[in-house]
Amino acid sequence: MTTEPQAPWANVWTDDAVVHLVPIEDIVWHEFSDSCVCGPDSEPHRPQAAGPDVSYVIHHALDGRP
Ligand SMILES: [Zn+2]
Repeated sequence: MTTEPQAPWANVWTDDAVVHLVPIEDIVWHEFSDSCVCGPDSEPHRPQAAGPDVSYVIHHALDGRP
């Protein structure tokens, strides 16, 4: 039996232009919006030169994890 390390973050797509990076198993529920309780940071991200502009909304874990 192997134990895979659990990723502390989950990528959650909400639509074509926004990716929410939300900590999984956090002590609070995260809204997938800029007005989430954790005060997420939003930053533009361009994965490919010819690709669409994508915004990352980076949520903060509120359980004190690094
Ligand atoms: Zn959040």
